[in-house]
Formats: sequence, structure tokens, C-alpha cells
Amino acid sequence: MTNTEDSVSAMAVRSGIIIALGNRDTILSLAQKETQIVDLGGKTVVPGFNDAHTHFLSMGLHLSHVNLSDATSMEEIVKRLAEGAKKTPKGRWVLGHGWDEHKFTDEKRYPNRHDLDRASKEHPILIIRICGHMSSANSLALQTSNPSRVAEGVDVDPKTGEFTGLLFEGVARMAVYDLQPTLKEMREGLRLAIREAHRLGVTSLTDFVTPQMVRAYQDLRERGELKIRVGLSLRWSDRSHEGYSIDVLEAMGIRTNFGDETSKITCVKLAIDGSLGAHTALLHNPYSDDSKNCGAFIDDINRIRESVERAHCAGFQVAIHAIGDKALDYALEGIEKSVKARPRSDHRHRVEHAELTSDEQLRRIRDLKVIASMQPNFIGVWGRPGGMYERRLGRERLLHCNMYRRMLDDGISICFGSDGMPFDPLLGIWSAVTHPIESSRLTSEEALTCYTLGSAYASFDEKRKGTLEVGKLADMAVLSDNPLSVDPDSIKDIKVEMTIFGGEIVYRRNH
Ligand SMILES: [Zn+2]
Repeated sequence: MTNTEDSVSAMAVRSGIIIALGNRDTILSLAQKETQIVDLGGKTVVPGFNDAHTHFLSMGLHLSHVNLSDATSMEEIVKRLAEGAKKTPKGRWVLGHGWDEHKFTDEKRYPNRHDLDRASKEHPILIIRICGHMSSANSLALQTSNPSRVAEGVDVDPKTGEFTGLLFEGVARMAVYDLQPTLKEMREGLRLAIREAHRLGVTSLTDFVTPQMVRAYQDLRERGELKIRVGLSLRWSDRSHEGYSIDVLEAMGIRTNFGDETSKITCVKLAIDGSLGAHTALLHNPYSDDSKNCGAFIDDINRIRESVERAHCAGFQVAIHAIGDKALDYALEGIEKSVKARPRSDHRHRVEHAELTSDEQLRRIRDLKVIASMQPNFIGVWGRPGGMYERRLGRERLLHCNMYRRMLDDGISICFGSDGMPFDPLLGIWSAVTHPIESSRLTSEEALTCYTLGSAYASFDEKRKGTLEVGKLADMAVLSDNPLSVDPDSIKDIKVEMTIFGGEIVYRRNH
């Protein structure tokens, strides 16, 4: 059975597994004591979406911050933060999340300390850009924290010598505000995130986690609240509150796939560069809108290389964040060296994003059997003419951006995710199908497969998930329309009517 099946109107489930799918009358006749029958109402049914790259728990925490993700002007940013400040006692932090200056209709620039001071001078304010690689703080936040102790990433006006409020990458942000939520806040964030996932038809995902986050997942799991299947991708870091050092990973003695179908360890996540939006993605040639800048390494490249090899040898799948073309070269070189040193036929190592690719790089990705972990919503949100990709990279390089069609045709495995920008699989599928570069478009069936079976393959779960078949987990989404037959442009308007997790209806849309 393929991905969508119009003739399926009911299914029989036992212990969370599909035992029969088809016509309602036939299914009813199968009913036995321990068999549960789910009436699918004759609507389009697809396998539950599987977001292969998302910051799920963090998204849940951000749901309680001031939401800036759909703000379309600097004025709107200031207004929303001022409203947030009004509800917050003086002196307490106001946190905002998700701004994207490319959506501004007034001035397309980063909000600085003076903009934020207009929202409040009596509350420290910190807002994080949509990409997570950049933040902005107001004057009180800068005064309180005195970030001069960290020079790197803390932006200073060359004329006045004053802080501009802009903070590039996590070290600079943490010098101003160390976002360290409590375990209770994490559990609460996770609950909000799970609700959001069900609303959008997501039943599986990969999250990038720290030790504290793993505790929150385990707490919810033990309480029977983890109604989502999570691949825990362990973040590599020498700072224990931010991730796992390579020594710890080796000492744990476990490897990829430890766990069960509710939660398991998948990969180890390392990052080489930042993001295009923040001008920190590492490029071979300078940014089109910043001619002296080629981006930056996020960490020491020799330590990253060594860690990739050690994680591989310890039996882990590795997932390497590489957005710029230069970062991708380093990622592929690291994987190649590791695989050569200790061959493993089914390593399924991943490169996260791989947004800018040359012919040579595509060949290496295919030959090394590396999975391209892509976020099609990026191209939907920023890839339109005059959008962020074109500004940062120029027209020529735009043609080499997010080459889904070419990748599939070349035999490269793709998994789709959202990176939470925004978390919405149907928006992602729409983006891949309506890619602004026509030659890079996928069919809706291919895009759906990348978001289901492709992601299942990336976490070694293709035998249990990703298609609607007898013997697979009863995870699915019932949709208002069939993405394979509607006009491609209206895919983004399709609504999730119902989400089913292990045979249980966990979401039903109110009409
Ligand atoms: Zn990410």
C-alpha cells in the first residue's frame, strides 16, 4: 500500500499495530475482543508525519515566550514586546522568540538595543532570531549582564564603541542571558509541544537534546504522557548542560537505536557552522550582501573532526549541521575519514541542512550513502524572489540551493524536517512541491514520502513506520484534502482532521 489511500475507511488495531486496513464493513467483520476499530470517516489518510529535524522541547518552551515569528514590521516587534513587558513585573526578563527581519515591511534589518528599549527600559529583554543563531538584547539586559567579558559574537558599533545589542551565536547570547529552564518548565514545554504536534498530524520526530532534556522526556514517558515517538539525537558539547562530551558518549556504552519505539537514542549531533540568516553559515565565497564575510566555524574544526570519528567508532550515527558549502566539505570529509577508518555498511550518517551543494558534493553524498536531512519550509519561507536566500547568496548560487529533485534523481536518501521554522509538515510539503527553482521541485507524493518514510529510514524505523501497512505502527493523520490530488498551491491550506497515535485518536479538529 502506498502513502495515501482513499479506499481506506477503517482500520483494525491491536496493541498499537495495524492488523487490517480497508473498507469499513470488512474491517468490522474482523472485530474481536482485543481488536480496536478506528473509523477514518472515508477521508484521506496518510502515515503520521515524521519531523526528522526539530528542536521540539525548545519549541514547547518558546510557546510561553512572546511570539515574534509572524511579526511583519519592526513596530510590531516593539509593540508585542511592550505588551509582554506590561504583563511582567518590573526588573524581570521579557523573552521573545522567532523574529525574522525578512518578513518586515518597514525596515529589513535586525532589531537592535534601541529598538528594544522602546518596548521597555525597565525590563531586561532578549529576543532570539528565528534561526536560533542570533539574538538581540535591550540596554538593561546588557547593563545587567555586562557581556564585555565575552568579546566573540557580542556586536560593538565601530564608531561609538558601544554594544549594538546584537549577539551572534550561543556563547554571546549566554553571556547576556543563560536560558536554563527548570525540569518542571521543560516538562510543561514538552506537553505544549506534543499538543502542537498532534494538531499538525506529527506522530514521530527527532529532537536534539541535552541531558536535562532527556530527563524531561523520561519523566513524561513514565507518566504515560509521551504520546509521540521521539528519536533522541544527543547534542555534542563539552559543556554538560548543553550536551554530551565525546568521553561521556563513549563511556555510556550504548549506541544508536538503544531504546524502543516510543523513545530511543538515534544520532549524535555536531555543528560546523551557523545559519545563512545570521551570516554565519560557512561559505567558500563571500556573502552577496556582505562582501568581506564568508561565515564562521561554530567550534574548533579539529575537535569536531576527532569527535565525528570517535562517535562513529563508538557505534553512533552522526548528524552534522552544515549549511554553507564550505561547512559541507568538512562534514563529508569527516564522515569519509571515519567510514574508511572503520567501515560500517549501514551507518546512515546524516548531514543536516546541506543547503548549498555542488555537483562534486552531491556525488560524495551519494557515494558515502549519507542521508540529506533537509527542511523544505526554508525554501518556502525564504526562497522566493528577493527573499533571504537571494540576498545572501545572489542569483547564481540560488540555483544550487536545496536541490531536492537532483538529490532524489541521483539516488540520495532525503529525510524532511522543519527545524521548527515553523513546525508544520504540510507547509514543508507545499514548499518542496512549489520550489521557486522549478528544476528542484518534487512531486507531492515524493515530498510526502520524504516527510514519512524518508524520515523513518533516517532513524532506522522504516520497517515500523512511514507507510500504511499491516504490521506497522498505527500512527496516521486524517486530512481534509488529498495532497496528491489538490492543486499544489493549496497543499499548505490542507487541515489535519484527526491524528492517530498507536491506534488512539489523540487529536480531532473542531469544526
Ligand atoms: Zn536545527
